[in-house]
Amino acid sequence: MLAMKKPGLCVAAAALLLGMTPALAEQAVVLRGARILTMDPAKPEANAVALVDGKVAAVGSADDVAPYLAGAKVYDLPAGALVLPGFQDSHNHLIWSATQAEDISLTDVADEAGLRAAIEPTLAKLPDGAWLRGGGWSVAVYKEPSAKALDAITGDRPAYFEDVDGHSGWANSAALKLARIDAGTKDPEGGRIERDAGGNPTGMLRENAMALVADLLPDYPEAQVDAGLEKGQAEALSYGITAIIDPSTTEWMLAGYQRADGAEKLKLNVEAAVKLDAEEGAAGVQGVLDLKNKYSGPHLEVTSIKLFVDGVIETGTAAMLEAYVGSNSAGDPLFTQEQLDAIAVAGDKAGLQLHAHAIGDRAVRMALDAYAAARKANGPRDSRHQITHLEVVDPADVPRFKELGVVANIQALWAYPDTYIVDLTEPKIGPERSEWLYPFGALKKAGATLAGSSDWSVSSMNPLEAIQTGVLRQDIADPDGKVLTPQHKLDVMDMIEAYTVNGAFAAFDEGNSGSLTVGKRADVVVLDRDITKIPPTEIAQGKVLATLIEGVPVFEGEGLPRPAGP
Ligand SMILES: [Zn+2]
Repeated sequence: MLAMKKPGLCVAAAALLLGMTPALAEQAVVLRGARILTMDPAKPEANAVALVDGKVAAVGSADDVAPYLAGAKVYDLPAGALVLPGFQDSHNHLIWSATQAEDISLTDVADEAGLRAAIEPTLAKLPDGAWLRGGGWSVAVYKEPSAKALDAITGDRPAYFEDVDGHSGWANSAALKLARIDAGTKDPEGGRIERDAGGNPTGMLRENAMALVADLLPDYPEAQVDAGLEKGQAEALSYGITAIIDPSTTEWMLAGYQRADGAEKLKLNVEAAVKLDAEEGAAGVQGVLDLKNKYSGPHLEVTSIKLFVDGVIETGTAAMLEAYVGSNSAGDPLFTQEQLDAIAVAGDKAGLQLHAHAIGDRAVRMALDAYAAARKANGPRDSRHQITHLEVVDPADVPRFKELGVVANIQALWAYPDTYIVDLTEPKIGPERSEWLYPFGALKKAGATLAGSSDWSVSSMNPLEAIQTGVLRQDIADPDGKVLTPQHKLDVMDMIEAYTVNGAFAAFDEGNSGSLTVGKRADVVVLDRDITKIPPTEIAQGKVLATLIEGVPVFEGEGLPRPAGP
C-alpha cells in the first residue's frame, strides 16, 4: 500500500515566507547552462529545466524550456555546476537535535575545565531548581564521565547530559537522587546503571537505564522547539536537503513539526517514525496510528515505527552473533525475537513501515527475521521496511535485503577508520568481523536498495561529506590516510542514487520526488561542481549554489548568478 502523499505547498504561501510578493514566486523558474543529472533513467541527462507551479514542467535542452522563458526567472548557471534532484536524508533527528542544540553543548569537552566552561554560563541564568540539560559529549573525548565531576560544578541542582550517540546518559548526584537510583537499584531490562567497585552508581546510564532520569526532564518550551527547528531546517536547506525521514519522534516533536507546517514555515518534506520498545509491544501500534492521525500536514506524515534493536559496539551494548573479543558477552538485544516479531507483524498489518536501528550482526539478523515473520503472517507486500546503521552484517544475511525488499539505510560518513573504529570497535570484534564493517558495497552488489542518511546530529548533515566517504572510505581530512574495508566502496553514482531516488523510494515518495521528471515536485539542488567528474577527494569541498523546494529558492549560496527576468 502506498502512503498517502501530501498536496504541494501553495507556491504563493511559500513566497510570502521568503518575503517575496506572491506574483514573483508564481513566476516560472528556468535553470540552464549546467549539466543536469535527472536520476530518471528515461532521460538521464539534460542541460535545462523549467519549474512551474511547484512542479517540473520541462527538462531537456534549451529548446525544451523555450516555451517557459517568457516572464520566467532564468538562472544562467556556471558551466561547471551540477543540477540534481534535492537530497533526501533518510534518517535525520532534525527537530530533536535542533531543539537540543539550544541546550548546553558538551561537544569536544575533554576535561573538567572544559566541562565548567560549558556549563557555567547557563548555570548563572537558570532559576533555582531548574534542570541543567544538554548533550554532545563523547567517551572518546571525555574519558571518565562521573556524577562527581558534574557535582563539583552544579552543586545540588539536577543535571543530565546525553552522549553524542544517544546511547548513554550522564547524570549528577542530584539527578540520580530524584530518580531514586542508588546502590540498591536494579538495572532495568535492556539497560545498565554503571557502578563503582562499591556498587554505587557512577552517574553513567546506558540504553534503557537512561529513561530513569530522562523521563523526569520537563518538556521543552515551545519557543525553544520552534527556534531550534528553524535553525536546523535552515542548515538542512543549505546542504541541498529537501526531504527527511525523522526516525524517532515523540509527541512534542510531532507537535513542533505540525506547528511549523501550520504556520507555513516547514519547507522540508518530513516523514516521521515513532519509537516502540519491548514493553509497549504490539499493543503500542495503535498509539502510533493515533499519532499518525493526530499529526499531519502538507509536509508532515507519520509513516513508520522505530525499533531500537540494540545499542552500540563501543559500550558492548550492540548485539553480536558471537561474543566480543576477550569477553563472554555478545551484547543483549533490547527485544526478544518473539517481541520483535509481534511488533513487526502488527505494524506491517497496519500498513506502517518498520525502521530498525541495528548495529551488531545479531541485531541485523533479528530485524531481518522479524520482517520475514511479518511477510509470512501478512503475505508479501510492498512494505519497504528499513534497517539502519548496519555496522556489522554477517555475510549470510547480505542477500536477504533484496529477498525481503528491505531498504538498507546507511550513514556512509561513518565508514572510515576514525578512533571509534580503530580504538573502540575493531579491537572489540576482531579482524574477521571487521571485514564486514559497514558492508555497503556487498549490500549494493547483492541488489539491496541503499538509502543515504546522516543520523544528524550524530554526524554532519552534509550529504557531500557522506558521498565522498562512501566512495573513498577514508577520512575527509586525511586523503592519504588508511582506507576502511575497500571492498565495500561505492561509486559516486551509487551515493547520489542513495540520496535522491532511493531516498524517495524509502519514503514511498518516488511518484512525487527523487528525480527531475516532468510532473514531479520541483525539489532541486544546484552544486558548484560536477561531483561525478572531479577527483573524489574534492567532493566534500563542494558548495551548494541553490536549493529549491516546489520551485521556490529556499537557499541561495555564494556564487549563484543573479537571475534574469522581469
Ligand atoms: Zn538515529
